[in-house]
Amino acid sequence: EALQYVLGRWGFRRLDLAVDRRVLIPRPETELVAEAAIELAAATGPPRLLADLGTGSGAIGLSLAAELPLDGTTVWITDASEDALAVATSNLPGIGRAARNVRVAHGSWFEALPPGERFDVIVSNPPYVAEDSPDLDELVANWEPREALLAGAEGLDAIRELVAGAPEHLVEGGWLVLEIGAHHGSAVRKLFEQAGFEHIEIRSDLAGRDRIAVGQSLTSS
Ligand code: GLN
Repeated sequence: EALQYVLGRWGFRRLDLAVDRRVLIPRPETELVAEAAIELAAATGPPRLLADLGTGSGAIGLSLAAELPLDGTTVWITDASEDALAVATSNLPGIGRAARNVRVAHGSWFEALPPGERFDVIVSNPPYVAEDSPDLDELVANWEPREALLAGAEGLDAIRELVAGAPEHLVEGGWLVLEIGAHHGSAVRKLFEQAGFEHIEIRSDLAGRDRIAVGQSLTSS
């Protein structure tokens, strides 16, 4: 069993998060995804309306709430898993006063968001491992929630849905920030292009692997 689950807590950026088998263990590369979203969000508003879709333990969304100014920041954290939302909710008190800026919602991707609202930044660490991928570590495959890891034959199912759906949930000039798989950079860039995103960037993690996709939606479709 992974050390993180045995301890039941793990550090992520400034936070000490409760984690158990209902959610993915927060990973160091995801701290960079959160950082990218925080930088873009800091440059907009206040007010700034943000969403972390498929939040799991709450790692990304609660970091946004904790690190951005208290005034004028609202962060929606969502998950299709009620179990995951229970873990994320248990992590809310750990961010202190910033917890009042967080809204928790149940549902698959955009379905969880309030209808008609447009967001300044949408961020997600979706599942992106291909079914039957030889890359999946045994410890990960045996202990971590499969629905947080696996996303179809190529691992792109969730990312495809997120990229295609994001423009109608972003303000004009709003940003989509996604964690992606190491072999997915060029495929994800194409998806962003097809959805009309601009200023697309594929950034690497500390190991030099494709890890973060960023794009700006300039349409207001
Ligand atoms: N990086 C994780 C792994 O390969 C996958 C995380 C994810 O699918 N979001 O174990």
